[in-house]
Amino acid sequence: MWDEGYLGYDFGEHPLNPIRLDLTIRLARELGVLDRLEVLAPRPADEAQLLTAHTPDYLAAVRVASEDPSFAGFGLGTDDDPVFPGMYAASALIAGGSAIAAQHVWDGHSEHAVNIAGGLHHAMPGFASGFCVFNDVVIAIRTLLAAGARKIAYVDIDVHHGDGVQAAFYDDPRVLTISLHQDPRTLFPGTGLPIELGVGDAEGTSVNVALPPGTDDAGWLRAFNAVVPGAVRAFGPDVLVTQDGCDTHHEDPLANLELSVDGQRTAIAALHALAHEAANGKWVALGGGGYGVIRCVPRTWTHLLAEASGEPVPPETVVPAAWGEHLRKRGVRAELPRTMGEGHTPRPTPWAPGGDSWLDRSIGATRRAAFPLLGLDPDDPRD
Ligand SMILES: [Zn+2]
Ligand SMILES: [Zn+2]
Repeated sequence: MWDEGYLGYDFGEHPLNPIRLDLTIRLARELGVLDRLEVLAPRPADEAQLLTAHTPDYLAAVRVASEDPSFAGFGLGTDDDPVFPGMYAASALIAGGSAIAAQHVWDGHSEHAVNIAGGLHHAMPGFASGFCVFNDVVIAIRTLLAAGARKIAYVDIDVHHGDGVQAAFYDDPRVLTISLHQDPRTLFPGTGLPIELGVGDAEGTSVNVALPPGTDDAGWLRAFNAVVPGAVRAFGPDVLVTQDGCDTHHEDPLANLELSVDGQRTAIAALHALAHEAANGKWVALGGGGYGVIRCVPRTWTHLLAEASGEPVPPETVVPAAWGEHLRKRGVRAELPRTMGEGHTPRPTPWAPGGDSWLDRSIGATRRAAFPLLGLDPDDPRD
């Protein structure tokens, strides 16, 4: 899903700079990745679609805020979510893109669909939060449920907890939400501990992995491998929805994990493989955070697009000169990446019970809390 209108989701002087989307699409185009994909323009989500995730009061507030720069309330007019002209339209366009992506995957129009502008996982029913106005993820999942999906697995690899999505489905046993993120005691939004498991019939369908600051490629992938494939397989979804935020990068200015583009690319490939293995090949991939707007996001999300096209871009691929020239013309002076990887080959060792590091204790806590509720053995590394 792509439309220049996505660039209108622009908070101004703010870490979430829409240049990251523009640079991703330019890089993917230069590398021929877009030629291997059907590029569809989104339509804005209509009010009925937005109401599947948000309250009428909040929608009215976003409408007013779109035209009144002095508006404050409902989480808007804050440092995180400043008001900007056209906020409603730009946010609805992103939400519509994720809804169409979901619908196309469900229909079988496409096996996979990607909306890099989506993944706005912090938005809550009645307020904006964490740079997110409308929760396109919730709208996409509700689209799938309304279309007849029985079970949906959502995996969120953004460095921040996917709190808005978890909250929306906390009591819904049809939706498994798994979030891997930096420990919430050290980062926004402050939720996402392993003890958050869902309620009622849905107990066990919220899974949280709280990673220590400093976690690198190998550690992150160890945690992923120890929790995500087993939980998703046990749940048995019809569709896999992923939020592919890349603010886990070692240069990201807003968080403290230490992944490389190579580690992020490996994670994306693992999610793709999981969609085929455990979700009938149906994969809806969304963007998310990512504030290394020059050196991280364009490469990692080009890898996301390439992976979804079925033809990954090798990490040693040279970044096309035309892409760098475009940046120089825009006056960007940052050191530009030379290749599509960073020269790392992540080699995660498997998790085993009894490990005493902060990371291993975190993984163990998640498995002990969630795995029995999913019919899995927390102490058996094969689960
Ligand atoms: Zn984030
Ligand atoms: Zn595939």
